[in-house]
Amino acid sequence: MPGFELFGDKEKAEVEKVLDTGVLMRYGFDGMRNGQWKAKELEATLANRMGVGHVHLLSSGTAALTVALASAGIGAGDEVIMPTFTFVASFESILAIGAIPVLVDVDDTLTLDPWAVEQAITDKTKVVMPVHMCGSMADLGALQAICQKHKLLLLEDACQAIGGSYNGKSLGSIGDLGCFSFDYVKTITCGEGGAMITNNKTYYENAHKYSDHGHDHIGNDRGAEQHPFLGYNFRISELNAAVGCAQITRLDEFIEIQKKHYTILRKALTKVPQVTFRRVPEGGVENYSFLNFFLPTQEITRKAHKILDENGIDACFYWFDNNWHYYRKWQHLTNLESLGKLPLEVGQGLPDYSKTDFSRSDHWVGRTISCLIKLSWTEEEAEKRAQKMASILQELL
Ligand SMILES: *Cc1c(COP(=O)(O)O)cnc(C)c1O
Repeated sequence: MPGFELFGDKEKAEVEKVLDTGVLMRYGFDGMRNGQWKAKELEATLANRMGVGHVHLLSSGTAALTVALASAGIGAGDEVIMPTFTFVASFESILAIGAIPVLVDVDDTLTLDPWAVEQAITDKTKVVMPVHMCGSMADLGALQAICQKHKLLLLEDACQAIGGSYNGKSLGSIGDLGCFSFDYVKTITCGEGGAMITNNKTYYENAHKYSDHGHDHIGNDRGAEQHPFLGYNFRISELNAAVGCAQITRLDEFIEIQKKHYTILRKALTKVPQVTFRRVPEGGVENYSFLNFFLPTQEITRKAHKILDENGIDACFYWFDNNWHYYRKWQHLTNLESLGKLPLEVGQGLPDYSKTDFSRSDHWVGRTISCLIKLSWTEEEAEKRAQKMASILQELL
C-alpha cells in the first residue's frame, strides 16, 4: 500500500517549486509565491478525481475526521456510531469535539454491520461513521438507507481505501462527508496530511474556516479577516501538499500494481479449501491495498499468523491481537484515561464497553489475516510469496 515505496523525482520537483518561492504556507503571501499554490492545486485534482464539489486539505487524516464532524455541527454529547475494528483515530476525532463514540460490531465485510448500526441508534445519534478498513468498504447502500430513515449523517472514513469505488463512485464521495489520510504509510502520502471531501458547500465553508482559527478567508489581508466562529489550526503546509501533488498523479498506477499483486496472492490462496475471503459488498471495487481472508478458528488463525511470520512472510496482520486497531486493546478509551478532565458529556455518555458483547466482531476479526500488498514487489516476488503462503497454510489446515 505505501506510497513511500515508489517515491522519487516527481515528488522532489514539486517540493523544489515550493522551496524556490520560500512560501511554505497555504494562505496569503500572494506577491511572493510566483503562482505556486500547492494545497489549492491538490484540492482541485482531488475534487476532479473523486467527483465531488469540494475538497479541503488538512494536516492529517485524524484532523480531517475531526474537522468533518465539526463542519457538520457535531459537538458535545452527540453520538457517533463507529466500528470495533478501525484505527484509534476514529474515536480520537469524536472525543476531540466532545462527542461520544458508540462502538458497533463489524460483519464479514470487516466494517460496520448495518443490522448492528440500527440497534445502536438512540435519540442522541447524529452520525454513522463506517471505516473502509484495509482497502474494502462497508455496505454503503444499506447504511445510506439507515441514515436516510433516521436522518443521520454518513461520514466515510476512507483513509485506507483511496481509489476504491462503490457503484462506480469513489469511496469517500458517497456519504455526506468523506475523509482521506496521506500519512507516511498510506497509499498516497504527503508525509503527513489528510483531506475532507463533500458536495455540501456549507460543510466545506465551515471546514476551511474551522481548520484555520475561524478565519473567514475573505479578501487578501489576513489581518482584516473576520472570525465568525472558534477554530483551531489543522492546516496542511505547502511542502506536504507539494508531495501529494506528485503522488496523486500516480494513484491509478499504484492501484494497478496492487491489483496485480493482490490477484497473484488471492489465486494461490483460493486453492486452499479452508481459506475464505472477506465479503466485498455488491457494486464495490477494492483498492487492493490488503488481501483479507478468514481461517476456520481463532486458534488456527493466531497460529497461522505466527508461522507465516516465522517463515519470512512479513507484513501480514492479525488485528485481533493488535494494540491499535481492535476494541479489545482500547483500555485507554474504555477507562477514559486522558491527561486532563474530559467533557462531562463524554464521561456520562460513554457506554460501559467492558460489559458490551462484541462476540459478532470477534467471530470475524478473530479469524482474519490481512496481508499488506506492497508496491515494491516484483511479479516474481509476489508469485513466490503466494506459493509459499499457500503451502504453509495447506500444511497447517
Ligand atoms: C491512518 C488512518 C487514520 C488517521 O490518519 P492520520 O493521517 O494518520 O492521522 C484514520 N482512519 C484510518 C482508518 C486510518 O487508517
